[in-house]
Amino acid sequence: MSDIFYRGRFAPSPTGLLHFGSLVTAVGSYLEAKSHHGEWRVRIEDLDPPREMPGATDGILRTLETCGFAWDGVIEYQSRRGALYESALEKLKRDGLIYPCACTRKEIADSAISGIEGFIYPGTCRHGLSARRAAYAWRLRVDDADIVFDDAVQGRQRQNIARDIGDFVLKRADGLYAYQLAVVVDDAEQGITHVARGSDLLDSTPRQIALQRALGYSQPAYAHFPVATNAAGEKLSKQTQAAPLDPAQAGIALWSALHFLGQQAPPELRNARPDELWIWAREHWDLAKVPKRRGIVADGGV
Ligand code: GLU
Repeated sequence: MSDIFYRGRFAPSPTGLLHFGSLVTAVGSYLEAKSHHGEWRVRIEDLDPPREMPGATDGILRTLETCGFAWDGVIEYQSRRGALYESALEKLKRDGLIYPCACTRKEIADSAISGIEGFIYPGTCRHGLSARRAAYAWRLRVDDADIVFDDAVQGRQRQNIARDIGDFVLKRADGLYAYQLAVVVDDAEQGITHVARGSDLLDSTPRQIALQRALGYSQPAYAHFPVATNAAGEKLSKQTQAAPLDPAQAGIALWSALHFLGQQAPPELRNARPDELWIWAREHWDLAKVPKRRGIVADGGV
């Protein structure tokens, strides 16, 4: 037994069924947790109903089971955790760390320059609402300083949020909680010690660290795996028409996910059952072998 407690998680959004790209993240986070004798939690990130696909949650959970994953504890659903997000917002409000913002997308576009994720918020409402409007968002006031962290796969990361993103939204004008807020509150509330996920979220991590600091939470350790892309370099996702995993092909898909993560399972296991593959994988998993890249073209499209 390791003496360091490890609790990881897999946090799919039910916007579509599990595909090869999401399987890679599930496999990597699962094996990291299990190789540390840790727990692996599943959290359904159903925060944004208009983007969700009916039946996706059940489909994802069934595919995980078919692939032989076993999660610890109960499955959490973000849609049922609004009270936790609201009380974190209240705390930030009391501490003067967030402010209401009534800017429209167009107003921001007209007065901002582009950053690493759309327009950098120019701070228009920092010192008071720019306009009297019924609906407004809440933004975190960010410092003009670098946030630095060491990622177990991608190495040292550095980002100045003020320069690259600007004050960012925690609750949208339509009343929905932003991913950044929900993920930080949930990881802390669930006692997650290690976050292992796709590198498409590497640029979000400094925002999550800033928010952890604002809320007085401790910072989990991070590992960001390369994401599976198509030949055009786009992340496999519902938007890029990634094919859902075929449960009848679970063994080959797992074998390919291990291969993608730099773990060379023997070719004779290519047609093995998931339980046989897991025995090999749990024994041989080595994070140091995961390619230190942000994206890799997934060949074969399993
Ligand atoms: N729900 C996010 C996704 O499906 C993952 C969030 C996370 O792992 O922090 O891309």
